Amino acid sequence: MLGSGMSMPQEILVVEDEPDIRKLIVLHLERSGFRCRTAATGPEALHAARSRPPHLVVLDLLLPEMDGLEVCRRLRADPATGRVPIVMLTARADEIDRVVGLELGADDYIAKPFSPKELVARVRAVLRRSQPQEAARVLVAGRVRLDAGRHVVEVDGHPVELTPKEFDLLQALLASAGRVLSREHLLNGVWGYARADEIESRTVDVHVRRLRGKLGGEGRRIVTVKGVGYRLDAD
Ligand code: CA
Repeated sequence: MLGSGMSMPQEILVVEDEPDIRKLIVLHLERSGFRCRTAATGPEALHAARSRPPHLVVLDLLLPEMDGLEVCRRLRADPATGRVPIVMLTARADEIDRVVGLELGADDYIAKPFSPKELVARVRAVLRRSQPQEAARVLVAGRVRLDAGRHVVEVDGHPVELTPKEFDLLQALLASAGRVLSREHLLNGVWGYARADEIESRTVDVHVRRLRGKLGGEGRRIVTVKGVGYRLDAD
């Protein structure tokens, strides 16, 4: 996620009573550039969320004292936390219908056992959906037009098929048109890596190459700045 996510890490409240799972979730979210707070019970979660509303709550369904459904309901009912997105964790397939039910209003759910990568992807997707003002932006450079709200890129009015990462990369470059973005900056903002090694830096290069190819003649707008990173020239 770009914008606020790039300069200041977004904060996730992780609510899970099982310490191993909690640690695993925190590890993967932090590795992806998020900051985490944790709670092990429902009341703790409500207190943490009310004292400082997080950007998103990862909420386990089975908790001691107060279950996740009740925590979710109370978060929704409180004006301070009513709009904080919630991703539910559930171990039972038969509970999923209730979790995603309209009355409850969890934004997404993941069934246990889950892959941490999948969890991070869901968290990102929910955060992206929950930021309509930012998503509504349209960015233009020459004949390239990126409509973040519709998630569409066009060159000369013709849609260009991009992978999600290519899209995010182009959005980052367009949003900072004329300025050089380092590989580290892009890895952090687009890929969510806190640190970058050599292999990950090459990931950026590969995606830029593909993106240029897909943009055709307009691909030349993405300029390689040797030893630093990339810049998109708008004119
Ligand atoms: Ca649990």
